Amino acid sequence: MKILVINAGSSSLKYQLMDPNSGEVFAQGLCERIAIDGRLNHKVPAKGLKEVRDMPMPTHAEAIQAVMDILVDETFGVVKSTDEIDAIGHRVLHGGMKFVASCIIDEACKQAIRDCIPLGPLHNPANLMGIEACEKAMPGKPQVAVFDTAFHMTMPPKAYRYAIPAKYFEEDSLRRYGFHGTSHRFVSKRANEILGNPEESKVIVCHLGNGSSMSAVMNGKCVDTSMGLSPLAGVPMGTRSGDIDACVVQFIMNKEGISVDDCLNMLNKQSGVKALSKGFSDFRDLEAGQNNGDENCALALRKFCYEVAKYVGSYTAAMNGLDCLVFTAGVGENGIDTRAEICSYLEFMGIKIDNERNHVRGKEALISTDDSKVKVYVIPTNEELMIAQDTAELCK
Ligand code: ADP
Repeated sequence: MKILVINAGSSSLKYQLMDPNSGEVFAQGLCERIAIDGRLNHKVPAKGLKEVRDMPMPTHAEAIQAVMDILVDETFGVVKSTDEIDAIGHRVLHGGMKFVASCIIDEACKQAIRDCIPLGPLHNPANLMGIEACEKAMPGKPQVAVFDTAFHMTMPPKAYRYAIPAKYFEEDSLRRYGFHGTSHRFVSKRANEILGNPEESKVIVCHLGNGSSMSAVMNGKCVDTSMGLSPLAGVPMGTRSGDIDACVVQFIMNKEGISVDDCLNMLNKQSGVKALSKGFSDFRDLEAGQNNGDENCALALRKFCYEVAKYVGSYTAAMNGLDCLVFTAGVGENGIDTRAEICSYLEFMGIKIDNERNHVRGKEALISTDDSKVKVYVIPTNEELMIAQDTAELCK
C-alpha cells in the first residue's frame, strides 16, 4: 500500500510517500516559498537521489502539482502513475472539540475544519488549502484528516478548562486543546507496547523539539498536556515563551505601544530559549555556546530543563504515580546532556539514569538503570507513519 502524507503550512508543504505497514519511505520532500517564488526539494531515500527545482508556486495547487509530477518523473519518480497512490493523509492542526479521532475528508469534515479557523488561525487555512489542492490534482482519491489535537480530547474538564468566566468555554470553546497529539499517541503507544501492554499504566511523554510539549497518559489515554488553546503554552521552546503571566503581555504592549498581534508574534517567534540566549533557538547552538562559556546559552538550557522537570513532577502528581518517562523529538532523541539534566531533578521519585545507556541519539533505548523506580526511554517519534497508518485504516 502507498499513502501520501501531506503537512501543509502557510508557505510550505511537506510530503512523504510511504508504506503504512513497513514504514518504508519511497519519496519525501518539501515545497517551500509557496506564494513567494517556489522551490521543490525532493529525495528518494532508497536510491540516495536528491533534486531541487525552482519553479513558480503561486498557491498550494501548483505545489501539489509539482509533487505529483516528480513522483512520476522518469529519473526522480517512484511510481508509474498517481493511480498507485492508495490514499492521502493530511496533518491538520486544530480539530476543536469536534474531532476526537482521525476522519475521512468529506464536505462536512472540511466545513468542521473551516469552523475551527478561529482556534487555529495560522494553520487551519493552510491545511485546507493542502486538502483542496489534492482534490483538484487527484479527484476522487480518498483523503483523511489527522488532527494534532485529537489525542488530547480524552482530558477531563479539570485539565482542559481555564479558570476564566464560563461563557468563553460555553460560547467560544476556549479551553486547553494541546498539540503534537499524533506524536504523543505514537510514542505513548510504543511505550505501552514496551511495557507489555499492561491494563494500567502511567506514562509521561516529553516531546522536546523546536516546539515542545508534555503529556500525561494514563492507561493509554491522555489526561493532561502542556500546550493550551494554542501551541504557545507549556514549557519554554525554541522561540516560544511557554507559560507566561498574562500581565506580561499588557506590560509589553503598553511599553512598546504595539498591538496584541505584534506582542503575540514576539512571544511566538522571538522568545523561548532564543530570547534567553540572545539569539540561539537551536539546541546544538546552545550547547556549543555553553561550552564556549556563553552564560546566556547556559541560562537558556538551565531554564528549559528546569521547566520540563517541573512538568514531569506535576504530571506525576496528576496521575498519582509514574511508570515510564519518555523522551522524543529532536532534542528528546538527541540531547544527551539535556535528558540527564532533566532527570537529575527527578531523583526524589526514584528516577536513575544510566550514563552509558543515555549516550544514545535518535534510536529507541532504555536509558534508566535497572533499579530505577521509573523506566526512562528514548523513543523516536514518527508522526508521518502514524498519519499513514490512520489513513490506511480508514480507507480499508
Ligand atoms: P520541530 O519542532 O521543528 O519538528 P525537531 O523535533 O526536529 O523540531 O527538533 C529540532 C531540535 O532538535 C533543534 O533545536 C535541534 O537543535 C535539536 N537537535 C537535533 N539534533 C540534536 C543533537 N544532536 N543534540 C541536541 N539537540 C539536537
